[in-house]
Amino acid sequence: MREETDTLIRKITVLDPAGSKVLRDVDVAIKDGKISQIGSGVKLDAVEEIEGEGKIAIPGLVDAHTHVFQIFLRGALSLRELQAHPVWLRVLIPFEAELTKEEARISAELACLNMIMKGVTAFADAGGPHPEILAQVATEAGLRGLVTHSTMDAGPENYRRTVQMNRQLVHKYGEGRVRGCYSIRQIMTSTDSQIDETFRYAREDDAPVHMHLNEEVSEIQQSLSRWGLRPVEYLHNKGYLSSKVIAAHCAFLTAQEIQQLSASGATVVHCPTIAMLYMNFPRIPELLASGANVAIGSDGGSYRPLDLFLEMNVMISGLTGYYGTPYHDFNIITPQTALRIATYNGARIFEDKLGRIEEGYTADIAIIDTRKPHLTPLHDPNLLPLYATGEDTTDLIIDGKIVMRNRQVLTLDQEKILQEAREAQPQILEKIKKIAG
Ligand SMILES: [Zn+2]
Repeated sequence: MREETDTLIRKITVLDPAGSKVLRDVDVAIKDGKISQIGSGVKLDAVEEIEGEGKIAIPGLVDAHTHVFQIFLRGALSLRELQAHPVWLRVLIPFEAELTKEEARISAELACLNMIMKGVTAFADAGGPHPEILAQVATEAGLRGLVTHSTMDAGPENYRRTVQMNRQLVHKYGEGRVRGCYSIRQIMTSTDSQIDETFRYAREDDAPVHMHLNEEVSEIQQSLSRWGLRPVEYLHNKGYLSSKVIAAHCAFLTAQEIQQLSASGATVVHCPTIAMLYMNFPRIPELLASGANVAIGSDGGSYRPLDLFLEMNVMISGLTGYYGTPYHDFNIITPQTALRIATYNGARIFEDKLGRIEEGYTADIAIIDTRKPHLTPLHDPNLLPLYATGEDTTDLIIDGKIVMRNRQVLTLDQEKILQEAREAQPQILEKIKKIAG
């Protein structure tokens, strides 16, 4: 009898952007959650086999900044309403606070289902009203994730969350695929003592801090009048920047702040769609050139369909349009770099041996079917991000377990979730009308 493995993917093309590798017609063996062998004609029996002909395996996509509890705002906010400044304080946070536990559960299930069906294997939620509900749903869904309370001790009374609440979450979810982390919703809604306490606890617990940072002009202005320093400068001076910091947006950085972020090893999460609509063209090419770990985020499902292929395309077109095209330079962000940003770079938030299709790495893999009119022919697989959408994902493997097979999600009840979301729609719309007018 031959040696047995858990899962064997047969004759597939492997795209490993962090290793700058394209392997054609190889077999990928998975054992005990890890990629155990990659090669031609692997001679192993397997409990599960996936036929890879005509398909491309990529490392699982990582949505490094999302808002699971805003998905019910989908289709309700126009671009004009985004101008209700600041939209996060006037609409988004009040909406999150209004969700019942039942609505939060449906929202979490809908977001997890959406992510899995788009090839996303891991996410970092920026913080919402019910992180424990999200932790439970994501665990059942088989996803990898970071969850947190949306910490703030300034601003509206009924949305306040303490650092202690996150400490409990971090201790409760300290191991495993879904973990708790610390957060600062915005420096504008946190006192100095809350910021200090967050970073002290995070250091003691060796846990990440997820925050919105340098995302709008009013934040920079507030920071300058409050501390005489810009937000990143302040965190740098306090010694708070580290590889444990997940800094979303960073749309308004000076050259010095770019250096401070890249030297610290912090992850900067570029959210392309919302950056182009609402913020700015962030200095992503300079961040990459300085060695910063740049990841990608959807910023939640209220603006776009949680599709990181779409976000990669907006990133490539947007940044090329701004930094390249006026100078006849079309090499600002290559599709390979975009895919590395959306996989390996985001995976660094979670663990070292993640985000690559390479022996010894944890098996988080998305399989894309290229036997489609919009993906045929695809002479160079490296150009996949320019043509594919998340919907082209047929199979998804997380921690070595198959969570979607032939577009059938095995861990969540798709029909039931969509039905419950449809039933909740009228009451949700009432809440939105009450808040947004
Ligand atoms: Zn956000």
